[in-house]
Amino acid sequence: MKIRTGIGIDVHRLETGLPLWLGGVKIPSDKGCVAHSDGDVLIHAICDALLGAAGMRDIGYFFPDNSPAYKGIDSKILLKKTMDTLSSNGFAVSNVDSVICLQQPKLKDYIIDMRECLAEIMELGVDDIAVKATTTEQLGFEGREEGISAYATALIYKL
Ligand code: MG
Repeated sequence: MKIRTGIGIDVHRLETGLPLWLGGVKIPSDKGCVAHSDGDVLIHAICDALLGAAGMRDIGYFFPDNSPAYKGIDSKILLKKTMDTLSSNGFAVSNVDSVICLQQPKLKDYIIDMRECLAEIMELGVDDIAVKATTTEQLGFEGREEGISAYATALIYKL
């Protein structure tokens, strides 16, 4: 069995009055992500980790942000398509770990909802998906609430 790892990073700008989607869950927030899609920075980072582990380019290659087909798209669909791409190439996912960096709101009450949502799409156990959140102690663009970032790693294997 060949085991492979991947890393994914995504950043979006935050603006007042936009919805904030993270891990497929709508988070109550004054600000949301400016994006071509729904701006789910966590799902985008996870997609890139999965594609990277498979050695298959990146999310922008598969779902271009200048394509009308993906305007306002629910990122859960992008994650499902990414999983389909991996499985059609003989890959299965072992686990995903991730971190979201933002100053506010606090995400602790939504972490389990995100893990359950991601696990359902990816057909994995909730224990196979870790989602963590941290502030950046008011430092940098996340700390100034100008933007949000997410980091993910994935372990996949080919039987
Ligand atoms: Mg993105």
